[in-house]
Parts: sequence; C-alpha cells; structure tokens
Amino acid sequence: MPQFVWTGDAEGNLNYFNKAVYDYSGLSIEEVEKNGWLQIVHPDERDENIRLWMQAITTGKDFVFEHRFRRADGDYRWQLSRAIPQKDINGNIKMWVGTSTDIQEIKEQADEKDYFIGMVSHELKTPITSITGYIQLLQLKYGRGEDHFLNNALNTVNKQVSKTTKLISELLDVSKIKSGSLSLNKENFKITSLIAEIITEVKHVNAGHQINFLNEAGEAMVCADRDRIGQVITNLLINAVKYSPDVKQVDVHAVINNNDIMVSVTDFGIGIKKTDQEKIFERFYRVEGKNEKRFPGFGIGLFIAAEIIQRHGGKIGVASEPGKGSVFSFSLPSITDC
Ligand code: ADP
Repeated sequence: MPQFVWTGDAEGNLNYFNKAVYDYSGLSIEEVEKNGWLQIVHPDERDENIRLWMQAITTGKDFVFEHRFRRADGDYRWQLSRAIPQKDINGNIKMWVGTSTDIQEIKEQADEKDYFIGMVSHELKTPITSITGYIQLLQLKYGRGEDHFLNNALNTVNKQVSKTTKLISELLDVSKIKSGSLSLNKENFKITSLIAEIITEVKHVNAGHQINFLNEAGEAMVCADRDRIGQVITNLLINAVKYSPDVKQVDVHAVINNNDIMVSVTDFGIGIKKTDQEKIFERFYRVEGKNEKRFPGFGIGLFIAAEIIQRHGGKIGVASEPGKGSVFSFSLPSITDC
C-alpha cells in the first residue's frame, strides 16, 4: 500500500514498519533498528514530534502530526501521521497503530493559495483606497443636499466599501501571519483608554446595542501594538453585537489578575456549542447552522485576534452556552516600561 504503516508498543517504542517505509527511505531494517526511526524525520520537526508522541503515550489520546520524511534521494516530503491506541477490554493500551500519508502536494497547493490571497489583497488595496477617498469627497460635496436618493446612494456605497476594505485588510493580515511577516510596533499605553475609545466607535455604528464598561483595571499600562490590540477589541465587540440580535446588551470588563490585565466581552446572544468553541479561532472556520447563516462573515477575525494576542505573550479564549451567550476574554502582561 502507498501509505506508511507502523506500530508501537504501549511504551511508544516503534516495532514494525511496512515495506513502503523502507522503499521510500532507502534504509534497511537493520539501519532503522540501529539508528531509530527519528532519523528520517526532518530535524526541524524532531523535537515537536517527540513531544507529541510522548504526550499521546502518556494521555492515551490519538497522535496527529504533520512532519517531513527524508526520501532515499535526500529530498523531504510532508506527511500526515496519525496513530490510535489499541486497548484491551479493561481499557489498557496494548499497542499503537499508525499511518503516515504523503501530503506534499496538498501543502504546496495551500502555499499557492496563501500566496494568491496575499497578492490579490495587496493589489486590491490601492484601488479601494482611492475609491474610499473619492466617496468621501463626493459625500462632502453632494451628500448634504436635498437629493435623498443621492444621499442614500452615497451612504450605501460608503458602507459597502468600508466592508470591502475591512475584508481586504483581514485577508492581508492572514497572509502576513502565514508568511510570518505580521510586525508589531510596541509602545506603552493605557489599555482601558483604548477600550473606552473603541466602545464609543462601536456604539456610533451600532446604536441599537447598549455597551457597558466595567473598569476594574484603572490606569493599567501594557506594552503592546496599540492598533493591533484595538483591532482585537473591535473584533470581539463587533462579534458580540452581531451575534446577539435579541438581547441588546454587551458588557466589557477589565480587571487585573496577578500581573496580567484581563479583558472580557460578554454578550447574551446565540452562544457557541462546545465542539465549535475549540475551532472558531482557526482560519476560515465558521459555525454551520441555520442560526449562524443569518450573519455574514468570513471566519478570519478570531484567527487574527488569536494570533495578535499570542504574539504579545497573552492568552485568548471563550466560554459560552448555546442560547445564553458568550464571554470572549484575553489577557496581556501588565508592563509599565516597554
Ligand atoms: P466571522 O467573520 O465569521 O464572524 P470570526 O472569526 O470573527 O468570523 O468568528 C468565527 C465564528 O465564531 C463566527 O462565524 C461565529 O460562528 C462564531 N462567533 C464569534 N463570535 C461569536 C459570538 N460572540 N457569539 C456567537 N458566535 C460567535
């Protein structure tokens, strides 16, 4: 079979590999026995490979990992490896059975897609900036007159262009994250002032919702990228408003916990199932369901938010109950001197 198949004992020692492994790697049974299977794994993935494998052995949970294997000619190809424990009737692990599947082409296609997203969003940025400028000029010149049709048309175009601009800049962020070039300009600032500013902005466009701010963090300072943290807070607030069409209240809470500042955004909206809660921070993940279909979106806001917070050494998470609402929280280290 084309897949690599391997087994391990309860302690995690690998004791069998099918012929495909030897054919691919060009190694003999003796060479694998003598120097171990790890020799075919790319050096960059070895430490993580060992860590995840030992974690699977100690927890008894499935092993899933993507890593490169060295082919006989010295080239490396990406593989997706998975292993599951085989248990006796008492639930004790007897052995592990694993497979590795070549995903090189899928990886290459994913890279091409990321490159394409980056290129397209970059190219769209200049024309859309120019359109935005002209619409603002048109609004200044003609948007205050008697002509209701013209006023409405300009407002509508302006709104749609803002949505498009947001989408393009999010796509650009995604591609920056993928290529590792999302840079942070850190400075010292009062996070609670930033929260207050953003609440005012969000209220301005979502007048139907009441947004309360409970500040228990006083004048707490952080050393962070103000625009990027602002982007996270805006995103959480807009989501809270968007996903709570019936109970129009959102609570924002800032508090100091040890040396961290915790910010939480609570809504009383549609909530999120446990199984979806783990996935919503992934790229392009949107909850599927007739409830969610009502809300437009792309499923990248939370992915970007999580990346920004993690890059600042903070944490982000969600607690939620379907039908009751959600609490999105993040923490950042409280630092007075950058
Ligand atoms: P989107 O643009 O789709 O809102 P996000 O990355 O911001 O993208 O969110 C991902 C998904 O998480 C959403 O599609 C939605 O299903 C869910 N979600 C996010 N925030 C909330 C919330 N406050 N209440 C309920 N569901 C939410």
